[in-house]
Amino acid sequence: MSPSRRPDERNGARPGTALSQREAIPSIPSPSSQSIADIVATKQLMLPDGPVGVRLRRSDRARRISLRLDPRGGGVVLTLPATTRLETGVAMLRDHAGWVQRQLERTAAPVRFEVGAPVPIDGEPHLIRHDPEGRGGAWLEEGELRVSGDLAFLQRRVSDFMRQIGAQRLSLRLGEHAVRTGLSPRRVAIRDTSSRWGSCSADGRVMLSWRLVMAPTMVQEYVILHELAHLRHLNHSQAFWTLVDTLTPYRRKAENWLRAHGPSLMRAGAGSESK
Ligand SMILES: [Zn+2]
Repeated sequence: MSPSRRPDERNGARPGTALSQREAIPSIPSPSSQSIADIVATKQLMLPDGPVGVRLRRSDRARRISLRLDPRGGGVVLTLPATTRLETGVAMLRDHAGWVQRQLERTAAPVRFEVGAPVPIDGEPHLIRHDPEGRGGAWLEEGELRVSGDLAFLQRRVSDFMRQIGAQRLSLRLGEHAVRTGLSPRRVAIRDTSSRWGSCSADGRVMLSWRLVMAPTMVQEYVILHELAHLRHLNHSQAFWTLVDTLTPYRRKAENWLRAHGPSLMRAGAGSESK
């Protein structure tokens, strides 16, 4: 998705992101009321794995309700004709939660491990630069991720480096949070998972995905504290969420972030080259 492109208010017929004809929301005859343009409200749409932010826009030109991904990333835009009631739009949104979920997953481009591509570390982009004469495989220097050796092995070296830095930073941070909160796991493992960010077992073992190191630190903090809170409540009960919210203020913000950006981190390194 091009970050600079504004949503097309008239039809939004961008392939892959707008509703297809078959799924299209029919236009709704609505009682006439005063025309109000461009009121923007924000709603949370609950998806199975967490909330996603939705911006509601009014458009005098729109003939029907339309729903599309926010081209700037991070959520969904629902455009309402001037006379359509807000409640109608919100109800439509709920009916199309499945569509939103599929679109978010489908359009998330994976982070690529190739020369010139930005790789996020703690949420900060680091451009990959090939330094054939350098020594040391892969290293961070002046905000870049530099990789030595044959270009053919660059993707593998970046991948190994990211796992290594993920293991170091995430174990360190988990250790600090464990000390601070008194919630200490029996064992910690940093793994390569591409379906979950972390887990906690009944016998007190906490697992984190190395991929989490690419996310901003507030997201890392939330996931770590979420798993540590499971040491006390091995469920998602109200008591569990209350504990999480006493440990970190970032739950909603981090879940929104993961909803929008998580899929591209989960698929990081995919499609750059064969392994
Ligand atoms: Zn959980």
